[in-house]
Amino acid sequence: MIQANASFAEIGRVFREYKKFAVLSHVRPDGDALGSQLALGLSLKQLGRDIRIWNEEGMLEKYSFVPCAELLTKPPAAAEDFDVVIALDTAIQNRLGTSLESIRSTKLWINIDHHPSNPRYGDLVYIDANAPATGQILFELMNSQELPIDTQIAENLYVAISTDTGSFQYPNTSARTFDIVAELVRAGVDVGGVSQQLYENYPRRRIELLRELLRTLRFEAGGRIASFTLSLKTAAELGVLPEDNEGLIDHVRAIRGVIVAIFFEELPDGKVRVSMRSKSNKIDVCAICQKFGGGGHTLAAGARIRGTLSEVEQRVLEAVSDVVNSNS
Ligand code: AMP
Ligand code: MN
Ligand code: MN
Repeated sequence: MIQANASFAEIGRVFREYKKFAVLSHVRPDGDALGSQLALGLSLKQLGRDIRIWNEEGMLEKYSFVPCAELLTKPPAAAEDFDVVIALDTAIQNRLGTSLESIRSTKLWINIDHHPSNPRYGDLVYIDANAPATGQILFELMNSQELPIDTQIAENLYVAISTDTGSFQYPNTSARTFDIVAELVRAGVDVGGVSQQLYENYPRRRIELLRELLRTLRFEAGGRIASFTLSLKTAAELGVLPEDNEGLIDHVRAIRGVIVAIFFEELPDGKVRVSMRSKSNKIDVCAICQKFGGGGHTLAAGARIRGTLSEVEQRVLEAVSDVVNSNS
């Protein structure tokens, strides 16, 4: 039987009754993952709970400006026992990565997410596939359960929601999103300051990377599919970090006539990381990525596929062309 959503009251009760919590999120974290982890972790800490906030990669340089960033660390070598482990924004449990190895035992698992492909693992599950960000779900949860939301927590929630909505542009951005963001601003979020940190503070190498990626830009299906590619060689030459390419796919998606944007990134382990974006509800890129063992949302999805760059490019472009050609 499919696990139904727990109520916020049930989750709130667990927050009040148990003592030691781990707050985790996915590998290759984004702003929603890291902001959500810190926001919930800080709120539980203020309730007097014993908390660990772990991510396989630790805090990324680009998000290190967020309040209390230092509380988010890599998981330790020695595993620990918990009362409750909370997975945030993580569609597949094994995308928690090495954080899983540092959990020796736990009484309860909580899974809070907004990916429709989430298989609803855990004892208490709350999945809202209509929410544009896990941070938005957390605001609703924390607000309804009267958990602390101070300026520092609000700023982390703002980072989560701003980044996962593409700065309030993607179609699941709703009136409710703006209501919540208004609350966060009232709680003290400095919109200009945070936005400058998020969107006007890129390292120069990220823009140099964009220049190289644009050289590889190619179009299929009469311009409805566009993709670019990053090889290990180019990444090494430019000295880029994995986090540098988050969001670059938006430059491809921004082209008139493009319905599906794809980014291929060669990984050191013999796989290729594929990121996909769709501009049409008729083209479900999550379904395409699931065929390759990945997942995500209807309009934003990804997969890690074994093979060389050119093999994976060919297989994926064929699969996407089939869908695009039969839907338009
Ligand atoms: P990205 O292209 O990495 O920004 O990811 C877009 C969306 O697809 C995110 O919501 C991810 O959670 C999801 N996603 C990305 N890669 C994978 C993967 N290998 N398996 C499952 N879901 C993924
Ligand atoms: Mn995420
Ligand atoms: Mn998210």
